[in-house]
Amino acid sequence: MSRTNVFLVGAGPGDKELITLKGLKILSQADVILYDHLISNELLACAKEDAEKIFVGKRASHHTLPQEQINALIVQKAKAGKMVVRLKGGDCCLFGRGGEEAQACRDAGLAFEVVPGITSALAAPCYAGIPPTHRDFTSDVAIVTGHRKKGDDRPIDIPRAGTVIFLMSVANIANIIQSLLEAGYPGDTKIAAIERGTCYNQRVLKGTLDNFLNTLKDTPLRTPAVFIIGKVVELQEQLDWFSKKPRILHLGIHPEHYSHLGTIVHRPIIECVESDTTGPMTETIRHAGQYDWIIFTSGNGIRFFFKKLYAAGLDARIFSNTKFAVIGQASAEQLMEFGIKADLCAAVESSAGLLDAFANIDIAGLSILLPQAEVSSPDLPEGLSKNGAKVEKLVVYQTIEKEIDDVDLDYIDQILFTSGSTVRAFVKKFASVPEHIQAMCLGVPTQTTAKQYNINAKIIEKDPDAES
Ligand code: SAH
Repeated sequence: MSRTNVFLVGAGPGDKELITLKGLKILSQADVILYDHLISNELLACAKEDAEKIFVGKRASHHTLPQEQINALIVQKAKAGKMVVRLKGGDCCLFGRGGEEAQACRDAGLAFEVVPGITSALAAPCYAGIPPTHRDFTSDVAIVTGHRKKGDDRPIDIPRAGTVIFLMSVANIANIIQSLLEAGYPGDTKIAAIERGTCYNQRVLKGTLDNFLNTLKDTPLRTPAVFIIGKVVELQEQLDWFSKKPRILHLGIHPEHYSHLGTIVHRPIIECVESDTTGPMTETIRHAGQYDWIIFTSGNGIRFFFKKLYAAGLDARIFSNTKFAVIGQASAEQLMEFGIKADLCAAVESSAGLLDAFANIDIAGLSILLPQAEVSSPDLPEGLSKNGAKVEKLVVYQTIEKEIDDVDLDYIDQILFTSGSTVRAFVKKFASVPEHIQAMCLGVPTQTTAKQYNINAKIIEKDPDAES
C-alpha cells in the first residue's frame, strides 16, 4: 500500500483540547497544514515549528480560496512529497466538504485518511447544558444546514425529530423559524442558540419559536452559532455547567497546571529567550563547577543554563563539588533530567522560601551562582549576601513581550499574573484591569509589581507541579 500523504482531520469545535489524540498526533507531524477560519492559534501552535501553515479560510459567504483551489493545493503539496493535514473545524465530514476533498485525493491517485472530529453540532449543546437526546424527551436528533450551495434556492428541509439542530443558520434564522412553525412545530417549542460553543466566550440565548426573534432584537446573534430546537432545551437550567466555571486569562508560558482553577484562556504575553552570554559570561559558565552552590529560581533558569553549559562542551560531571538548590518539586525533577539531584528544595515558592530553606546552612564565605532572568528580584541575592555568601548572578535568559491574540475581557472573570513581566506587559497593552475581573498572582514579588500599577492581586496557591 502506498504511504498516506493527506489527512483530513477534524479539529473539534473550539476548545483546543477537544481534538482527538489521533488528530493531535498527526497535526504535530504535518509538513503542511491547510486550515479554516474557525481553527484557533492555540491548536496551530501544536504543529512543528517549521510546518507550513496555510489559511484557506472558508466561511459561509466568504471564501479566501475557492474549493477547487483548496483541493488543488492539497494535491500539489502532497505530490511534492509533503505530509499534508487539512484541518477543519468540528468534524471534517459534517458540512465540512471533507467528502469533496477526499474525492479530489482519490482522483489524483493520492492515499488519504480521515480523522473524524467532535462536531460543534453536538459539542456546543453539551457545553451549554443541553444533551441532544434524553430518554425522557426524545430519542432522535436531526442535524440540518440552514445554508445551501450557491444557486440552490429550495426551501430548507424541516425534518420531524424530537431534537433538531441547525448549523450555518444565523443569517437565515427568521426563515427557519417560520418553516418550523409551518411544518407543525408548536409555537411554544423551545429553541436555544449557542454561540462560539465550547470557547471561553460561549453565549447561550434561549426562547420559544414564538418569541425568539424578539429576543434577538435586543441581543443580536454572533457567529458561529448552532441552534437546537426541542424539549431537551428545558434541561439547560439544570445541566448548565460550563458557564459556572471561572474563566481565567493566563498570561504566562505554562497554562497546563492551572486547569483545576477553571477554564483557562491562554494568551502568553511574554516569551523567554536565551540571552547572549559572551565574554566574561562564558568564563563563568566554564568555571561553574568551582562554585559551592548553584541556585535556580525557575525551570527556565535550569533549561537555559544547561543549554549554555552543553554549548561550552561541558556537562554535569564538572559539578562533583557543587551543591544545587531549587524551588519546588517540579524544578527538582527538571534538574534530574540534566543528571543532577537537588541538595535543597524550597517548598515555598519565593525568595523568602529559599532563604528559609538556607536558614540552617552556614553559607558564610561560600560562593553562590544564580543563573536567572535578566530582570529578577534582588531579594534573594541580598539575603544570601547578608548571610556572608559571595553571590554572583548569571543572566541566562530574558523575558520579552509578545503580541497576543484577541481576547474579549468581557468574558474573563480572573487574570492570573505568573510573573512581574506579565503584569508589565498586560498594563502596556490594556492599561488597567477592568473592575469585573479579579487579579491573581503566584507570589509576593509579582503581587508587589502589580501594586506598583494599582492592581490588587490576590496570591493563589501554586499547583505543586506547576512552573510559571
Ligand atoms: N464541520 C463543522 C461544521 C462546519 S459548518 C462541525 O462539525 O462543527 C460551520 C458551522 O458550524 C457554523 O456556521 C456554525 O453553525 C457551526 N459551528 C462551528 N463551530 C462552532 C462553535 N464553536 N459554536 C457554535 N457553532 C459552531
